Amino acid sequence: MSGQREISGQCLCGEVTVTATVTDPVVRACHCDMCRRHTSSMFMSLPADNIVFSGPTKTFQSSTWAERGFCGTCGSTLWYASAGDGHINPSAGLFDNAAGAALTLEFFTDAAPQGYALAGDHRKMSTQETLALFAPNDGDAK
Ligand SMILES: [Zn+2]
Repeated sequence: MSGQREISGQCLCGEVTVTATVTDPVVRACHCDMCRRHTSSMFMSLPADNIVFSGPTKTFQSSTWAERGFCGTCGSTLWYASAGDGHINPSAGLFDNAAGAALTLEFFTDAAPQGYALAGDHRKMSTQETLALFAPNDGDAK
């Protein structure tokens, strides 16, 4: 529990609010085709505990195993969730200054548009590596 703190955030219009707890917050970026389309670039998640969303949230099932949360009023990206266990990864952009978190990991790095890249000395996982991590029994999962 040492160092644990509560963070709070909101969507663009402010009707959806979120609270969560973090200890040493990090940000992860996903460049898969679905995250690119959902966000216009990449999904930046901020893994946290005790996540509570309030307001007019809506969900979209983007694949057999994933669900996207968004604000029903302004459309802001709110979360990525695993359909299987319901685990939610909130969008880092909801929190001011991304709660002070640093980028530590990129998923599907080779699927990112070639015209830009994230700077920094963090871990970058290819499509093959990402799929091996999340879908070990189905290499063609999307
Ligand atoms: Zn909103």
